[in-house]
Amino acid sequence: MSILSRRARSLKPSPTLAINAKAKALQAQGIRVISFGAGEPDFDTPQNIKTAAIKAIEEGFTKYTPVGGIDELKDAIIKKFQIDNGLTYKRSEILVSCGGKHSFYNLAQAIFDQGDEVIIPSPYWVSYPPMVALAEASPVIVETKEENGFKLRMEDLKKALTPRTKALVLNSPSNPTGSVYFKEDLEKIAELAIENNFFVISDEIYEKIVYDDFKFISIASLGEEIKKKTIIVHGVAKTYAMTGWRIGYTAGPEEIISAMSNIQSQSTSNPTSISQKASVEALLGPQDEVKRMVSAFEKRRNYIVQRLNEIPGVHCLNPMGAFYVFPNFSSYYGQSYQGKKISNSTEMADYFLEVARVAVVPGIEFGADQFLRLSYATSMEEIEEGMDRIEEALKKLS
Ligand code: GLU
Repeated sequence: MSILSRRARSLKPSPTLAINAKAKALQAQGIRVISFGAGEPDFDTPQNIKTAAIKAIEEGFTKYTPVGGIDELKDAIIKKFQIDNGLTYKRSEILVSCGGKHSFYNLAQAIFDQGDEVIIPSPYWVSYPPMVALAEASPVIVETKEENGFKLRMEDLKKALTPRTKALVLNSPSNPTGSVYFKEDLEKIAELAIENNFFVISDEIYEKIVYDDFKFISIASLGEEIKKKTIIVHGVAKTYAMTGWRIGYTAGPEEIISAMSNIQSQSTSNPTSISQKASVEALLGPQDEVKRMVSAFEKRRNYIVQRLNEIPGVHCLNPMGAFYVFPNFSSYYGQSYQGKKISNSTEMADYFLEVARVAVVPGIEFGADQFLRLSYATSMEEIEEGMDRIEEALKKLS
């Protein structure tokens, strides 16, 4: 009998977090690494949010809370959906969990069974397929192409549908490509979901990080019928620079939320009481810091996209959301450094880390080996230096 479960044996650590750890380990040795690795805003959590957390501690708000979150936070989330998306939810349709990832995990555990198929467009966020597999369902990867702006084509989605299709994972703005879906795209997807009776898991964590005056639309807001088939996964981490606080939330049909709450009740219990109070302030307090951060991200996006496209042989789409770029580096595959050939995105990323001391995530982890993901949620100085280093390193290849 093997020590580890089948489930554990088939699992590897999250590559985004692993690359982050690798970069930090090198930094601890005194090596200056520029990290375009994990997607984490470089900004500090806004002061009003920190103050709310300190107040919670001082007032002794340090005990268990209801498993699915305090009513005050659920009401703040309900208000957010009402104001931002025109969506009306009841408290029983909201669940607060320990981060957006935990929300997705609980959801997968609540609705998937062996034999269920879950359509995941690639490039996808690294943890979707493993979380679907942990729930014993089968990820069905549908490739999207750079020339289509990394967006799902209806004909490809239709082809992937079977009677076993339980859900489609939609992530707009997308991690890793930054592409966004417009109302017309969402309407078509909604129609298919209703017709073919599958759920749409809409990961909206990057909702507020959008550029070029793009107006985010939630697929759930397109009508009562699609709302019933949509489960929104969201969180405060990216919008409010609160990655370490671990607060995510889900909005969806009561039956699903209640099952997720049972799973949470038997596993983690409530998300941190203090972080919940901080999140109430994040959602209901002043939003100027969000604007400031997004406008800084937009300047960085403009810069990094331009720099990448100036590199011979590299091509990078201009993303309209999130804080990632997903450039195509495949024209360098086949080239060598000191007799060692670079054949894929993993070797390209290793090369950049070893020679340029720049951390990037290989595209293969997102299901697209021609590409690399760079997070530009880091300072302009770091981006400038990182891009200089990448350029220099590429010149050494032959
Ligand atoms: N979501 C972020 C990323 O893609 C954070 C790390 C993770 O949870 O994957 O880099």
